[in-house]
Amino acid sequence: MHELSIVSSLIDIITADARQRSIRKVTFVRLIIGALSSANPRSVEFALEHLKNGSILEGASFEIVVEKAESECTKCGTLFEPRLPFLMCPSCGKPSSSFIKGRDIYIDYYEGE
Ligand SMILES: [Zn+2]
Repeated sequence: MHELSIVSSLIDIITADARQRSIRKVTFVRLIIGALSSANPRSVEFALEHLKNGSILEGASFEIVVEKAESECTKCGTLFEPRLPFLMCPSCGKPSSSFIKGRDIYIDYYEGE
């Protein structure tokens, strides 16, 4: 389950950031998981519950939001939701699109005291 290593590095990032802001306890974390990212939201939640113990996130609650995928056609600029394995633009039919949303997992924001 590679979510464990993803979550482990997210906790490291929050810990380092919180230290810089003199936050000693993180109370809330909002995470965004792209619908086409390789992370499974349930596994991420499980990993959080498992790894938060003993960290700055120990007492925190979490909100996990799954973000819809979005592509932008590099040819005509149309925005659309890709349905893998096809990445064709529904407007001009060109397979020349790039992802702009939905492939990443990131921290939207967190709160602490
Ligand atoms: Zn297009």
